[in-house]
Amino acid sequence: MTPQDNSDATNSDATINTMQQQFDIMRTASRQDQYVDWSIRSARLKKLEQLVMDNQSEIITAIHADFGQRPAAETTMLELFPTLEAIRYTQKHGKAWSAKQPVKTGIWFLPARSYIQPQPLGLVGIIAPWNYPLYLVIAPLAAALVAGNRAMLKVSEASPNFEQWLADALPKYFAADEVTLITGGVEVAQAFSQLPFDHLFFTGSTAVGKHIMKAAAQNLTPVTLELGGKSPVVVTPSADVAKTVNRVWTGKTMNAGQTCIAPDYVLMQADKKHAFIEQSTAWLDAHYPNLADNPDYSFIINPKQASRVQGYLDEAKQRGATLIPLTDYEVNIETGFFPPIIVTDLPSDAKLLTEEIFAPVLPLVSYQDLTQAVAYVNERDRPLALYVFGEDKADTDYVLAHTVSGGACINETIFHIAQQNLPFGGVGASGMGRYHGKYSFDTFSHPKAVFKQSHLNFAHLLQPPYGKTFWNMMKVILKLIIRLSIFYFFLSQCFCL
Ligand code: NAD
Repeated sequence: MTPQDNSDATNSDATINTMQQQFDIMRTASRQDQYVDWSIRSARLKKLEQLVMDNQSEIITAIHADFGQRPAAETTMLELFPTLEAIRYTQKHGKAWSAKQPVKTGIWFLPARSYIQPQPLGLVGIIAPWNYPLYLVIAPLAAALVAGNRAMLKVSEASPNFEQWLADALPKYFAADEVTLITGGVEVAQAFSQLPFDHLFFTGSTAVGKHIMKAAAQNLTPVTLELGGKSPVVVTPSADVAKTVNRVWTGKTMNAGQTCIAPDYVLMQADKKHAFIEQSTAWLDAHYPNLADNPDYSFIINPKQASRVQGYLDEAKQRGATLIPLTDYEVNIETGFFPPIIVTDLPSDAKLLTEEIFAPVLPLVSYQDLTQAVAYVNERDRPLALYVFGEDKADTDYVLAHTVSGGACINETIFHIAQQNLPFGGVGASGMGRYHGKYSFDTFSHPKAVFKQSHLNFAHLLQPPYGKTFWNMMKVILKLIIRLSIFYFFLSQCFCL
């Protein structure tokens, strides 16, 4: 161990101790104030909105510094806009979501009443990645707050400028026992995931997601895992190539492909490939002219990530794949400048077809008929998103019906994430649980089941000693159940219910 390593370890230990103390304080506060009135939730959401509104240029600058280059337009469109939209949507609907929800009471128990009382879980943990550092920590935080929780946050060590900004700004808006940020590296993140939170919300890779679930299991802490993976594009025979190229590359070049739902690879019929490649080059020229000096294009976050992707390309080349750069520019591992490239003729076990790419590298995979394309998707992990392109509804319906993915778009990429009424989350290896809109509230609430007995009730007839009245009642009830089910069956047949 070098002296530097030693001091890093000591710093982590100190942070972990402070984190534990902070956890204890916040947990106690959450137990003391179990009822969190809407006025408190609403005031917290207002503070969150203010935190983002007041610091827009600081946020843009910090994220730009972390990426080396992240256009202000992308940070505004892909982070500030959806973050504020999420806060405002929860602010608008939160009061109604947190109200008691009456539900039907079983016929045998009438005139009693039943209702669901949503309650805060208490203290929740939120772990976020670096690719959209603002949105992926603040949108879950808005969800935690609208549901009446307190929250501890851990953002990625790979976005240190953003982390520093948040560490400075957060205490100006929130009391330390309401919302707090824990800073530090992976050891701190590991210790964070071991805290007995009332819920742990993790966004990150599938590999780390497994560690999170294991750590949470020790405390029986429920988890939401928003993970990654390979999101395919299925180009059906009737697809318009120009439209497909436009939407696929728009999704793939946003944040230089560092988007969890970026199109990862494209399945298409071999006879469409040539047009797709030609039009991809034209699309790039039109939208990102002079790419090397184009301020609208993001860089890869750090040399580690850039080398990982370059390694995938080197392996592909070595194994006989064809690399088709869309520009004449070279990759720069140090700065993170990574020009878009198409790869064809890949062996099916090449890293570009087995690992999440997370960069502007687009493998094309051929299929002969659509059933083959669907089988290709189904043989692999369930994707976070699937994009299907085509003008023939029967084909696009077929693809959606025969594949399972977290979300999907028809003739589009990415945009499903921006819909507040659609749940956002993965399935299988791409995650568990969901959020956005009302789903966010549900994720961070406990729906307490409440049964309110009426003064007039027959409960005393259903207790021992079980005499004649009890048995006569049970006989009537059992007979009625059978008759009622026959009656409902006929009713449903007559009225196609
Ligand atoms: P990552 O999994 O490496 O890290 C995510 C977070 O986990 C970071 O804050 C990190 O500090 C922490 N962490 C790392 N190791 C840990 C451990 N052993 N225990 C506890 N915490 C640990 O992911 P990343 O590289 O920051 O982000 C990229 C990945 O995130 C991609 O796979 C991408 O698809 C995925 N992602 C998913 C979504 C989604 O909404 N589903 C959104 C964005 C990114």
